[in-house]
Amino acid sequence: MARRGSMAVATCPGCGQIGRSVSARTVHAVLLAEVATRIVAVKPRFCRSAGCDVLYYCADGRTVGSREAHVHVGIKHADDASLLCYCLGITRGDIARDIATTGTTAAPERILATIRSSTCDCEVKNPSGTFCLGDVRKVVDEIRRATRAAPLDDKGAPTVCQGGEDDGADK
Ligand SMILES: [Zn+2]
Repeated sequence: MARRGSMAVATCPGCGQIGRSVSARTVHAVLLAEVATRIVAVKPRFCRSAGCDVLYYCADGRTVGSREAHVHVGIKHADDASLLCYCLGITRGDIARDIATTGTTAAPERILATIRSSTCDCEVKNPSGTFCLGDVRKVVDEIRRATRAAPLDDKGAPTVCQGGEDDGADK
């Protein structure tokens, strides 16, 4: 029996990063049954590196590629169809469209409302096994930054401290 890697925290064979442990429920929600059973007993970890094709890996070297998931894993594919919120079905394209047409997006608020009302099931449905809000906010920032060239109204101009109410006389 090989004891290689049995002590150390396993790193992803694709990118060398340390992934997050995921539950059997998450693995079963994201993968087809026959793929899930390949890894579920060997403590699968989720690789969140965007450039890495490995979705789940195990300490014994078993891996599942991102294309084996039956959802379009947003973290792995930066295209419009990338799913970011697996409960509400919000894609990167939805957020980009919101920002392009209105300058903002209600996606984070919608997700927060879902979490607060306890109807959110991200911990199971999200391949990373955790809430999607962090990833969604990152993408919102990214898209906003990319579209910052579009001018906003001049209303944002500084209007602070115009009055002279507090100059001197308070000593
Ligand atoms: Zn990786």
